[in-house]
Amino acid sequence: MSNLILIVEDERDLLDTLDYNLQREGYRTRCAATGSEAMTLANERPLPDLVVLDLMLPDMSGTEVCRSLRSSDVTRNVPVLMLTAKGEEIDRVVGFEVGADDYVCKPFSVRELSLRIRAILRRSQSTDVETEQMEFGRLRVDASAHRCWVDDEEVQLTALEFKLLTTLMRRRGRVQTREVLLTDVWGFSAEVTTRTVDTHVKRLRQKIGEAGRYIETLRGVGYRFRSEPSEAD
Ligand code: CA
Repeated sequence: MSNLILIVEDERDLLDTLDYNLQREGYRTRCAATGSEAMTLANERPLPDLVVLDLMLPDMSGTEVCRSLRSSDVTRNVPVLMLTAKGEEIDRVVGFEVGADDYVCKPFSVRELSLRIRAILRRSQSTDVETEQMEFGRLRVDASAHRCWVDDEEVQLTALEFKLLTTLMRRRGRVQTREVLLTDVWGFSAEVTTRTVDTHVKRLRQKIGEAGRYIETLRGVGYRFRSEPSEAD
């Protein structure tokens, strides 16, 4: 069955446009114009496979909605794609505090939104299968053997660099803030700062050479492993 997307947007025209276009792409949709409506529809069975969530809503903010989704056992794992106006606090949105999976800045093209949706869905629906062999452009990784190749030449990575690389690869197409990487790669207890993440990403990029450009920097936010190897710069 096709994926079900909950669209939360109070601007009626935009809501209709999104609804129309996502249905045309084969998704089933549910629409909400307020935060409280969104919470109701997000908990209805079958659960949505993804929520497209506007940040500015009349009754409560998108960040509150996202936090509520994350704190409930029912909706905890439903991916959220946040719609923000440029300059809004993107690092909070995709960061720890709110926990969205990705964001798109308004104004955006339907195509851009649809690519992001596809990337998130692909990722969220493959989490059960722990991918041991990963290939991406010039990069090849054997997660169980802890080995990595670029253009068939083996690259020696430290355990930490390897974990950083595989974490980014497995979440490709999705923004990872420094805070999230610190928690998931280094673990909470480590006495490291967000600067550490930058240092290690830099070193990892140097080691994997040409494949280093697959790891994109989002200034002031974090990093994102590309969705596709050939994506334009
Ligand atoms: Ca709005």
